[in-house]
Amino acid sequence: MPALMKAWAVDRPGPVDGGPLVRVDKAVPAPGPRQVLVRVRVCGVCRTDLHLTEGDLAPRRPLVTPGHEVVGSVEQLGAGCTRWHEGDRIGVPWLGHTCGICRFCLSGRENLCLDPRFTGWDLDGGYAPYAVVDEAYAYALPEEFGDEEAAPLLCAGIIGYRALLRANLPEGGRLGIYGFGGSAHITAQVALARGARVHVMTRSPEAQQLALALGVSSVAGADAEPPEPLDSAILFAPVGTLVPPALAALDRGGTLAVAGIYLSDIPVLNYEEHLFEERTLQSVTANTRADGEEFLAEAARTGVRVSVTPYPMDQADAALRDLRHDRVNGAAVLVA
Ligand SMILES: [Zn+2]
Ligand SMILES: [Zn+2]
Repeated sequence: MPALMKAWAVDRPGPVDGGPLVRVDKAVPAPGPRQVLVRVRVCGVCRTDLHLTEGDLAPRRPLVTPGHEVVGSVEQLGAGCTRWHEGDRIGVPWLGHTCGICRFCLSGRENLCLDPRFTGWDLDGGYAPYAVVDEAYAYALPEEFGDEEAAPLLCAGIIGYRALLRANLPEGGRLGIYGFGGSAHITAQVALARGARVHVMTRSPEAQQLALALGVSSVAGADAEPPEPLDSAILFAPVGTLVPPALAALDRGGTLAVAGIYLSDIPVLNYEEHLFEERTLQSVTANTRADGEEFLAEAARTGVRVSVTPYPMDQADAALRDLRHDRVNGAAVLVA
């Protein structure tokens, strides 16, 4: 085991074209009690990494290493580990730790924990050769998915799945999806497998093509009106100005779930047009480990296909720039 490694880190958050992501020497971390050291094989690039790098999300500590869609192999076990063996393939997700004793943890809502730790924000993540994870927060990965396909499932997939649950999609219902990147293209497949009719609103012609290839019923521009009223909608684009048209597109009693951790300001809403008739605006905050287990099983069972654009690990900065400028179709992943 080397003592040092080259890891990506967020130096001074700012526009991604200005080089806020730098490569630094860090010590290879040692796993503490009930933690395992993971040798990173693939790490997905999530929009949250971009928000952190650009300063939309305040950094929780200096020179943090981003990356919370980590697929790797267990390299070393910390004291007291019982769940994994050396060599196991595991996934390291966004939810890195919860307190286990707050009122939310104790009522099955650990996604709302009062003292959580997130991978790649509070804890160093997978834009590096090695990372450490609490053994209880790692996932076993279905063998149906190769390393590159599995990585985006770990946040894009899981958070999209929680957003789908929060959007209250009824059996055979009508779902609108606003923005169609890494998370949305996975979530759309879960919804289609559940029998939904799906309408996609996005400005990217490549994303529209991908959506049609996956079997959605219609595609249109970012704020276009879908061809029928929606039972449910999910806003994946981090664009608050899309909230009013998405609410207006809901049928009576419909729900709009906002999937992202960051959203630009929402314009003034009109009660009658956007909320009356029991329309619901719903945020999505992280996920529980149970959400993750359920999603991974459902994705494997229903044959979800993940569209990836691979980059070498040493081009993480280029991957983030491409994500920033909408040049990535599907999900970007860094390959060690
Ligand atoms: Zn808690
Ligand atoms: Zn993420």
